[in-house]
Amino acid sequence: MNNLFLSLFSLFFPSQCINCGIEISFKEKLVCYGCMSKIKWTNHLENEIRSQIIQLINVPNVIDANGFFVFEKEGVEQNLIHRLKYEHSKKTGFILGRQFGQKVKKKIQDSSIEFLIPVPTHYRKKFDRGYNQSETIARGLSKELNIPASSKLVAKIKNTTSQTKLNKEERTKNIQGSFICAAQFRNINSIGVVDDVITSGSTITELCRSIVEINCSIRITIFVLGVVRHD
Ligand SMILES: [Zn+2]
Repeated sequence: MNNLFLSLFSLFFPSQCINCGIEISFKEKLVCYGCMSKIKWTNHLENEIRSQIIQLINVPNVIDANGFFVFEKEGVEQNLIHRLKYEHSKKTGFILGRQFGQKVKKKIQDSSIEFLIPVPTHYRKKFDRGYNQSETIARGLSKELNIPASSKLVAKIKNTTSQTKLNKEERTKNIQGSFICAAQFRNINSIGVVDDVITSGSTITELCRSIVEINCSIRITIFVLGVVRHD
């Protein structure tokens, strides 16, 4: 794309920084450069984040984990996730997924992951929101990593109540038996599981357990945008 096109594009499609509201150019995408610099990227924490997620999930099939940023309740990250979940913005997940994909591309290229599996939401929730936010992230990742994303291999059959006010034990109980997985997993050796934010890990844990019930030797790599730190 040439500059003329870009400036015309931003003239007709002006957009605002999700965090502070100032007008931004097409190139800046979701947040302005100022707000971008406030995001706590996981770069220097990669190994810590990896072991934190693997420990939280505690399913031996989970061999690797990647996070994009540290999720803090009152940061730019909170606004990004809010936008992703509640403001009918499919685009947000796709863009973040692509950026995340660019970050992990090198690391992932030899991993032989066959499918990216977004954590499913119950169809009623998907209907209300118009999309599943994990699916939009998975599509962005898929585009960068050249790994197909499939939302047809797992389904959420229980419409669980919000997990936010529950403790870890209650969350685990609440989510139990929520997912059904396709028999096709028997023929798959390696998958990536994609979600927006990991807090207690109970949802992803339950999903991984359900998949492992179908194929006990499957290898799982986790991709989450936001990681809540437990210090
Ligand atoms: Zn801004």
